[in-house]
Amino acid sequence: MSDVIDVAVIGAGPYGLSLAAHLSAAGVNYRHFGVPMRLWRSAMPQGMYLKSQGFASNLSDPGGTHTLEAFCQATSHPYKSYGLPVSLDNFVNYGQWFSSQLDLKVEEVLVAGLVRQGEVFELTLADGEQFTARRVVVAIGVEHFAYVPSPLAELPASACTHTSAHTDLAAFSGQEVVVIGAGQSALETAALLHESGAGVQVLARRPAIRWNGQPLNPVRPLLQRLREPEAGLGSGWSTWFYSNHPELFRRLPASTRVYRARTALGPAGASWLRPRVEGQFPVRTGQTAISAKTLDGKVQLRIAGGGPDVTADHVIAATGYRINLKRLEFLPEAVRSSLQTVGGSAAVGGDYQSSVPGLYFIGPSVAPSMGPVMRFVFGSEHAATTVGRALAGISGRKSSAAVAAGRLCPATMSKPWRYRGPAREPGFAAPSALITAAGPRPARAAGRGRWSGGWRCRPRTPSLSCWRWL
Ligand SMILES: Cc1cc2nc3c(=O)[nH]c(=O)nc-3n(C[C@H](O)[C@H](O)[C@H](O)COP(=O)(O)OP(=O)(O)OC[C@H]3O[C@@H](n4cnc5c(N)ncnc54)[C@H](O)[C@@H]3O)c2cc1C
Repeated sequence: MSDVIDVAVIGAGPYGLSLAAHLSAAGVNYRHFGVPMRLWRSAMPQGMYLKSQGFASNLSDPGGTHTLEAFCQATSHPYKSYGLPVSLDNFVNYGQWFSSQLDLKVEEVLVAGLVRQGEVFELTLADGEQFTARRVVVAIGVEHFAYVPSPLAELPASACTHTSAHTDLAAFSGQEVVVIGAGQSALETAALLHESGAGVQVLARRPAIRWNGQPLNPVRPLLQRLREPEAGLGSGWSTWFYSNHPELFRRLPASTRVYRARTALGPAGASWLRPRVEGQFPVRTGQTAISAKTLDGKVQLRIAGGGPDVTADHVIAATGYRINLKRLEFLPEAVRSSLQTVGGSAAVGGDYQSSVPGLYFIGPSVAPSMGPVMRFVFGSEHAATTVGRALAGISGRKSSAAVAAGRLCPATMSKPWRYRGPAREPGFAAPSALITAAGPRPARAAGRGRWSGGWRCRPRTPSLSCWRWL
């Protein structure tokens, strides 16, 4: 067995990569496992677009410089903060670019076992290697939790699959396919099937499909912005709260958190998808399949309330993901049973640490603790910054190289601070009162339109306050 390392990060999606960027910059002794952006490469259909706006699809790095916008500039892809959907291809490439630009060392191997031994964790990798880590961060996203409801779950895979099983929907060309669901995934899957030459219909339990409105103009008059503020997850005060204050969301009663995590920002289609759905193929709302069977190579669905049966060659369940810790094969019963849970997920504290000391969870699985923002890439900023800071403190190894490179404030890192107001004009600079005591005010990150990556640093001498711009 090799030396004890400080931190093991399990998972290399947006959350794991963002955390790695923070740990690396802080000089933490860590190892990182997983297949970079695997969910996005292997469980989403070619031709898909993200629903989140460009500005809300950034991975997080301490400098705030490796944004989707910076990637698009560097690779000559079109980019807009609002109103220009981000293609899946672009986003996957952005993840790779982020990782290579920041020189993140992801080991493309899965973690197969995790055992707590006293104060440390013993990890076993799929290739058989074993090692010990003082802290472990689980950032495994949703790929283990695809959910297919009854009665569809009883059908064979040849008749019914979850959306995550498909990257190439053109394979259904010429077939009759029923898509079950009412959210973006159902509607976009159906549109892609239709555009690939499949006969498609959508069955949704809801009485009507909800469509998101056009993104609001970020430079609206103040009164309009006060009435309906725009934030990472969309517009409105509750959305603003979920987007920007996971640490306050955590203070709500557990039952409220569980309910909000599940229902806030529920199924709805993006405005740009609407013309590709409406009038293009049947969308039958208020339809619940109560039984399903295969007959002569076809699937037959019986609909509640006596509606006509539906027959198709294949059913695709766009029925989302449900966190179920039992599905994490690398987490043994002994660890699972010592985890306090909320809404079926590991309950975490303000630093994302679970009730098993040293074991952290970030990403969608902690939505019942930290709020719906954790279901989206936008939440990676809060999670990576908070956990990065906690682990940099524990590790106590803020490398002098990182400090010298200006990536880390030599004072105690405090709450990361970002300007989140409306876009600023080119040439905008921070007020001179905020000039760092540790050096000249650095240039604003080109084209960011916001103050980015400023760390508010609480120096060891309380009477001084310094601002360090990264
Ligand atoms: C169809 C679809 C569309 C979406 N669109 C959007 C969108 O437009 N905007 C948005 O913000 N969010 C979107 N989401 C939500 C998105 O999934 C999350 O925001 C994001 O992927 C969560 O990132 P993550 O890093 O937690 O997990 P993931 O991206 O799921 O990454 C998980 C990582 O864990 C690794 N892993 C898993 N098990 C192990 C193991 N045993 N050992 C080691 N590594 C392991 C995987 O290899 C992978 O690297 C979408 C989700 C789906 C399904």
